[in-house]
Amino acid sequence: MELLCSVVVPMYNEEAVLNETYRRLTQVMENSGVEYEIIFVNDGSRDKTAEMLNEICDKDKRVKLIDFSRNFGHQIAITAGMDHSSGQCVVVIDGDLQDPPEFIPEMIKKWKEGYDVVYGKRISRKGESFFKKFTAAAFYRFLKSMTDVNIPVDTGDFRLIDRRVCEALKRVNEKNRYIRGLVSWLGFKQTAIEFEREERFAGETKYPLKKMLKLAFDGITSFSYKPLKLASYLGTFLSGASFLYLIFVIIQRILFPATVQPGWASILAVMLFFNGITLLMLGIIGEYIGRIYDEAKSRPLYLIRKTRNLADDRQPLTRD
Ligand code: UDP
Ligand code: MG
Repeated sequence: MELLCSVVVPMYNEEAVLNETYRRLTQVMENSGVEYEIIFVNDGSRDKTAEMLNEICDKDKRVKLIDFSRNFGHQIAITAGMDHSSGQCVVVIDGDLQDPPEFIPEMIKKWKEGYDVVYGKRISRKGESFFKKFTAAAFYRFLKSMTDVNIPVDTGDFRLIDRRVCEALKRVNEKNRYIRGLVSWLGFKQTAIEFEREERFAGETKYPLKKMLKLAFDGITSFSYKPLKLASYLGTFLSGASFLYLIFVIIQRILFPATVQPGWASILAVMLFFNGITLLMLGIIGEYIGRIYDEAKSRPLYLIRKTRNLADDRQPLTRD
């Protein structure tokens, strides 16, 4: 029977959930009756994740493993999984059971109806902090207002893509990836299914604020120049306004020298304000330059230490 569905699961320090994830995924896929493979990507975990995944691979040949040489990040782990998948469709799902595997058959059904991309849209999020919910909701809306690409709001990486979309994605080589945006950018026939995001089964989030910010900046800088445009508009406006005020100050000094006040506070306020704005704009430009620098170096996207149960476990260990 032809391999129908590849399920890609990134894993970073997930020893607490891993066996349960494997159990539930297998159960769902068995019940759905389609031919499948599960590709776990071990993203340089420092706990027992690698050993445990190897054990699963020993007894279940439908489970494949890609073991990274170090931690490359969630988005790159997903990319590697897709690169090595061979199913007619590919499902990407988080390893912590926040995305319920039970929705996969529904996604496959939509795919069989003729959709190329079926993404999961979160209608609610359980067990996440107010801070995370608020920043996530604000970010998705901000990103939407910043870009011309129609990136659906409240959508993570839980989605099914057709083989053709996967092949198209393989040709996208950028380093600082925001995959949910890239999939929107590709086009194709897309649809959503709604689901409730569950609580993490066990363990804690692998997305500390620092990684969240990195992903947010990648999302914005990959799909929009608007921050740069805003910087130049703001610069134009502020220097125009400053020039007018300068004329006013000079006239005041010539015509009414006696009314000029000692101006320590006002000078300091203006200086701090303008220096702040200047640094902010330099920072925005820096974000873009840093990403240009990453592209220019063109280092491989990831390095694989070893693979298990793939057609050829000695295939190229990297992707340029
Ligand atoms: N993950 C990864 N590499 C990382 C961080 C996270 O592969 O550097 C994986 C993690 O194991 C999980 C998925 O990405 O399967 C989503 O991470 P997490 O659940 O911690 O994020 P959250 O749901 O809190 O946003
Ligand atoms: Mg999670």
